Amino acid sequence: MVKFADRCRVCGLDFSRYNVGDGAAAFLILIITALVIGLAIIVQVLFAPPFLVQAAIWVPVTIALTFWGTRVAKAALLVSEHRRDAREGRLAPPDEP
Ligand SMILES: [Zn+2]
Repeated sequence: MVKFADRCRVCGLDFSRYNVGDGAAAFLILIITALVIGLAIIVQVLFAPPFLVQAAIWVPVTIALTFWGTRVAKAALLVSEHRRDAREGRLAPPDEP
């Protein structure tokens, strides 16, 4: 859904060597679902709007939160991988004498 550019526009860091994947998406969907349903229930209890009003509010909000959240979550995962120097599985280098 959201793909990284090949390189950072500022420093030229090669993003292709990081494997962020879709791991963030499943977790994000759980959070956004809980948030949107909770807010929709609160709006329903307080204002009792017609169904179409609820749909007109929450469908765009859900889409916007998903796109924004995916960008933030994937960027956070990439930062985390970069800081920990995460790579594909590899053997530990031999101990220095
Ligand atoms: Zn950069």
